Amino acid sequence: MDKETSKYLRRREEMVKRQIEARGIRDERVLAAMRSVPRHLFVSEALEDQAYGDFPLPIGDGQTISQPYIVAEMTQALRVGEKDRVLEIGTGSGYQAAILARIVYRVYTIERIHSLYIKTRRLFDTLKYHNIVTLCADGTGGWKEQSPFDAIIVTAGSPVIPQPLIEQLAPGGRMVIPVGDQHIQDLIQVVKDDHGVHQVSLGGCRFVKLVGEHAWKKE
Ligand code: SAH
Repeated sequence: MDKETSKYLRRREEMVKRQIEARGIRDERVLAAMRSVPRHLFVSEALEDQAYGDFPLPIGDGQTISQPYIVAEMTQALRVGEKDRVLEIGTGSGYQAAILARIVYRVYTIERIHSLYIKTRRLFDTLKYHNIVTLCADGTGGWKEQSPFDAIIVTAGSPVIPQPLIEQLAPGGRMVIPVGDQHIQDLIQVVKDDHGVHQVSLGGCRFVKLVGEHAWKKE
């Protein structure tokens, strides 16, 4: 193992211990995924050194890679396992999709900004994430052809829960989505069962806008 690789391995261990475990994340699959995915490769070279810090970072086009803890919290709230097919809206850097790809059977991820979509698609190929399927589109309509999904994660803030996403959730399915205004949102966990959908708030969060037909109409 070269010096760089072992340096970042150590930083990941620290990140998981101090930012993730210390704040109460207990799901072993989530912790293992966070220990293994090389987060520094999902940001630009200029920001590599800050990749394991306790904050979000810019990824270009006015978008951000989420803080490590929020990625862990959302992943745990999805309650996913190895047989699950998961839809993500807002591919961005690809980091959240990569974490999910270590845990689930297949990840379907949608990004609306073409330049980000291309860059991240290439990264998934380079890093050999063969179970991530990508699409460049408005994800607020979901991905009907591939539905239903065992879990859906929305990594941008929306004024409402887009109806197509609720429809494309399988019975027993879980969804995590930040809902609120453009400055602050509530992280909502939605569970679908035979009686309908139930919502629980997991706390405050701050995401970039979900822009599309069933969310914010403009940036
Ligand atoms: N999951 C990402 C977070 C990226 S930030 C990561 O791990 O890095 C949110 C992303 O959502 C941005 O890239 C933004 O362009 C994208 N986005 C916003 N509205 C969208 C929509 N309607 N459909 C698909 N992607 C959208």
